[in-house]
Amino acid sequence: MKLYNTMARKKEEFVPLVEGEVKMYSCGPTVYNYFHIGNARPFIIFDILRRYLEYRGYKVTFVQNFTDVDDKIIKRAKDENITEKELSDRFIEEYFKDVTALNIRKADYHPRVTEHIKEIIDIIKRLEANGLTYTSGGDVYYDTGKFVEYGKLSKQNLDELEAGARVDVNEVKRSPFDFVLWKGQKPGEPAWESPWGMGRPGWHIECSAMSMKYLGETIDIHSGGQDLIFPHHENEIAQSEGATGKPFSRYWLHNAFLNINNEKMSKSLNNFFTVRDIAEKFDLEVFRLFIISAHYRSPLNFSSELLEPAKSALERLYNAKNNLTYLMNKAEEKALSQEEEEFKKALYEYRNKFNEAMEDDLNTADGLSAIFDMVREINSNVKADSSKEIMKASYDMLMELAGVLGLLYKKEESLDTEIEKLIEERQKARKEKNWALSDKIRDELKAQGIILEDTPQGVKWKRV
Ligand SMILES: [Zn+2]
Repeated sequence: MKLYNTMARKKEEFVPLVEGEVKMYSCGPTVYNYFHIGNARPFIIFDILRRYLEYRGYKVTFVQNFTDVDDKIIKRAKDENITEKELSDRFIEEYFKDVTALNIRKADYHPRVTEHIKEIIDIIKRLEANGLTYTSGGDVYYDTGKFVEYGKLSKQNLDELEAGARVDVNEVKRSPFDFVLWKGQKPGEPAWESPWGMGRPGWHIECSAMSMKYLGETIDIHSGGQDLIFPHHENEIAQSEGATGKPFSRYWLHNAFLNINNEKMSKSLNNFFTVRDIAEKFDLEVFRLFIISAHYRSPLNFSSELLEPAKSALERLYNAKNNLTYLMNKAEEKALSQEEEEFKKALYEYRNKFNEAMEDDLNTADGLSAIFDMVREINSNVKADSSKEIMKASYDMLMELAGVLGLLYKKEESLDTEIEKLIEERQKARKEKNWALSDKIRDELKAQGIILEDTPQGVKWKRV
């Protein structure tokens, strides 16, 4: 499989450190609010990367952290007159509700900062021993000037950046790129004991500490939104490699932004949507399909009108699935015809096309097209008098490929026996040319929300 590695600025063949195993870390949310749809993009995309790697037989260990102490959490907890823990517990619970509705699987580990203070202090101690830190104004800083490779991920021209950033330099920092590892306690803020006095961790250090604890000193894939490349991921590299002297992550993956009506999402532009907002108007599976209909490194424009085509696309997939289920329940076992043998081969060809797309830097857009092309073929080739085997082969292939993208996850829609009986009766009436009865049954089903379509391949149904 080829993956675009931000560190190399090109697609590279993916080779994990240990054959057959993948260690993967993705930066998680700060839990002071519901998460917004821009954050949903990396959550969905890297869930699919994990699913695809598992589909290809890798054993994947996936870690995603929760930032449960930071300025925003402290402020909101104060405003609501509750503890930081009460606030973050609540939004972690809400996070899991949203990701479940989006069919994003839980990580193997979801470590929280406040439960890993010891590991964080340990890594700062290692950096201190390596001469990469200094204390100033009660805080411990990373001395980026001492880490010669600083800037290697973002490929920033540090001199230019430094000139631009000069306004930010204050006397406490030696360089504008230096960042806080440990913040001295301020009145009314949560704090822990440390060799540098009471305080709390800076933001970047948690990912280095948690990644190392659960995945070891060198991992295979580190991922996140492109806004994290600088400074967050650059700082994670400085911390992890500064402490261990080993490469931190072999592949760095970053997704492009999600824009809203062609503008950057921001609270000030009033175009800021949480996943919860979208859930009020749309089934979140529609939103999932919308996200994966574009390649993850292309900017994606969102508007509610753009969800409409995703909605009909998802309906096409469910209709195909439901029809195959319906046909399989009626079909008789019989040998595959010559044509069906050919069609079975065609199904494998679609799987190859799908895999080719996914192998090419996780091209979910082309992978999805392969599925839709296959569904079109299934609709015209699988008929009421087809063999049960070809129906099942079509159903299995559809579910296999859609499953890698995490689609078609809603519970099996089975027709009530009563409805099935009505469809049978209507078929019989049509055979006998009893149009009045046939129409009557069709209307009855319509009243129950079942729409029938008479196609050259037999009767098809869908729910409305
Ligand atoms: Zn991180």
